[in-house]
Parts: sequence; C-alpha cells; structure tokens
Amino acid sequence: MKKVIFVAHCILNTASKVVMYNKEEMEMEETLRKRFLEKAISNDVQIIQLPCPEFTMYGAKRWGHVSNQFNNVFFKNNCRKELEPIVEQIQEYLDNPEMFEILGIVGIDGSPSCGVDYTCYGDWYGSFEEREDLDETLKSCKFAEGNGVFIEVLIEMLKEQKILDKVKLSSLFANEPDKCLSLLD
Ligand code: SF4
Repeated sequence: MKKVIFVAHCILNTASKVVMYNKEEMEMEETLRKRFLEKAISNDVQIIQLPCPEFTMYGAKRWGHVSNQFNNVFFKNNCRKELEPIVEQIQEYLDNPEMFEILGIVGIDGSPSCGVDYTCYGDWYGSFEEREDLDETLKSCKFAEGNGVFIEVLIEMLKEQKILDKVKLSSLFANEPDKCLSLLD
C-alpha cells in the first residue's frame, strides 16, 4: 500500500515564498521543513504538492499580505480553480483504499493563505503614500488562530465532496514541530 501526503507548495519549493527578512524565523522553518521531508522520504511516503495561490496571483515580488486582504471573491475563486484537480486526486486516492492511504494535508501556519491552525490578520488597505499612521498600521498585524484563505476554500471543497472527515489537516510550524512530523509515523 502506498502512503501519500499533500503538502503546501513551498514545503517542496521555497522559491515560491514571499521574500522574508526575519532570519531566525526562516532558519527555524527551514530546519523543520528539511526534517519533515527527510522523514517522508525515508518512510517511503509519496509527496503531492499543492499549488501556491500567492505566487500565481501576485508573483515573486509580492509584498507580505494578511488574510483579510485575500478574503475576497476573486482570490477565493482563483483558489477554487487551482484546488479542483487536487480535490479530484484526493477523491481518487480515497476511492482506492486497498492501494493508498492518505496521511494528510500539510499547510504552513502563519500564512494568510496556507495557515491551518494560525494565520495573520491586519485591517489595513489603501496607499502608503503620505500616510501618517504607517508604523501603527504595520504593527497591528496579528498572528492568531484561524485558517488562511486557501485552506478555508480547501475545507469548503472537501465538505462539498463529503470527504473532510477522511483527511487529516495539519501544518508545518517551527514552534509545534510534532504536528507535521507525527503524520509520518
Ligand atoms: S501561499 Fe502557501 S504555498 Fe505559497 S508561499 Fe505562502 S504558504 Fe507557501
């Protein structure tokens, strides 16, 4: 029986990530990403890569966003289009349980798109030019419990297919490494 796991795009391809400046945070995530992939490969787990909705909507030079900004019908419809073939693949693996076991889907905590347990919020918009409250506006960004928008759409689609309870959702988060690593046991 083949074991398969679905992972956020940047678990396999960090070139898709928004450019980050917090070195300590980046190194912690990178260490866990490598531990996770090494464990998956040594346990003979097949890895299926989800699309990166931010790279395909906003490209490599995008700014950092918060989930409030992606919570709109256009971004969500794009997520839905990108996720359709993924949900079909999940369905096909589930339909053949004698051949396959789906270990789960792994997102990236803190991401406005791919957060599973945590995402980031901030109620800002508009131009930065001549803005007087820029520092306060940027500091209002909060890391808090909740789904990123891409994961929210994925959950909706799995519910529509009545397969949400058949797939474990988890996430890669350096402060809680067991969440993703334990899926591979
Ligand atoms: S949108 Fe998701 S896959 Fe893309 S870089 Fe962000 S967390 Fe990774």
